[in-house]
Amino acid sequence: MPKKPLLEFTDSGIYCAQGRFYIDPWKPVDDAVITHAHSDHARWGSKRYLAHHLSREVLLYRLGDITLQTVEYGEKVMKNGVEITLFPAGHVIGSAQVRVCYKDEVWVVSGDYKVEDDGVCAPFEPVRCHHFISECTFGMPVYKWKPQQQLFDEMNNWWRQNVQEGKATVVVGYSLGKAQRILQNLDFSIGPVYTHGVIENTNEALRRNGIVLNPTIRITPDTPKDEVRKGIILAPPSSVGTPWMRRFNPYDFGYCSGWMSIRGAKKRRAADRGFVLSDHADWDGLISAIDATGCEKVYLTHGYTASFSRYLNEIGFDASEVHTLFGEDESEEEAPTQPPPKEEGQKSPETSEVLSSGEDLGEAPETSKKGGTS
Ligand SMILES: [Zn+2]
Ligand SMILES: [Zn+2]
Repeated sequence: MPKKPLLEFTDSGIYCAQGRFYIDPWKPVDDAVITHAHSDHARWGSKRYLAHHLSREVLLYRLGDITLQTVEYGEKVMKNGVEITLFPAGHVIGSAQVRVCYKDEVWVVSGDYKVEDDGVCAPFEPVRCHHFISECTFGMPVYKWKPQQQLFDEMNNWWRQNVQEGKATVVVGYSLGKAQRILQNLDFSIGPVYTHGVIENTNEALRRNGIVLNPTIRITPDTPKDEVRKGIILAPPSSVGTPWMRRFNPYDFGYCSGWMSIRGAKKRRAADRGFVLSDHADWDGLISAIDATGCEKVYLTHGYTASFSRYLNEIGFDASEVHTLFGEDESEEEAPTQPPPKEEGQKSPETSEVLSSGEDLGEAPETSKKGGTS
């Protein structure tokens, strides 16, 4: 009789029967191990949660009063004889890959990850394993990120220019991850940094967790418009096109997303500037990360799973796609509104699932809960 795999894909999520726990379950379960606090990975309703220390305050802020155990990277936790260890995923602050080991069999669940060291969260660390469960949000050759310094130089120059022209500068990025990465790379000699309430709430949670972030000023109805124009405004995707943003008129607005590398994406967002900034691995990053695990088998959970697994099989990996709800109903990376250009030898990638995800759903619950910005 073939042996049951250590991790399996069930209706509730990735499950370890031996250890009786789930990783990033999308249904309420007894024991949930959470890779990171983005809403498609950390869902409400489970009895007990396990996550990295630095996810603590954001998880409590987003999920409310949950039973949460937190651990350091590399610290071993046993659940019913199965060893669990978290390793840095380089995605956002507190993000982790989950290594699961039982009787010398090792599985790693990547969660979301990027390989470039962003200087804000602990850098991605490859973990040797037999089975690797990987995301592939940007698993197409068109996605190739520039070094972030180049991007932030462009952003700071754009901001400086706007200040000189008397325009406000609004930069849009997801509240957990992008916002802090931008904040830590802005040139404070140009001016102060103002924040939308959704972003400031996340910053505050991170500060409660001991993270030192650059200073920010929360925008309230009383914040003088003339002052804001000398600074830069960090805003979440949900604020685009709202009266909240329009009140900064005249302003220039820049959108930060990996999808900005697709022609036309900036225009569809009605953005003045598109910054190709992502907290996910690009094409080369995915392949190097998968290769570095030395795994026998790779499972692809979200992104261009079909075309990417075909490609991996062609170059000698044993890859297959699995169906999960990651990246689907609430995505930290807004999906493109149309597929990217087709590559040689690749069929149209499976964007339909990605496409179905709402643009700014990831932010919506927070916005409504906290009543917007002020
Ligand atoms: Zn994520
Ligand atoms: Zn994800």
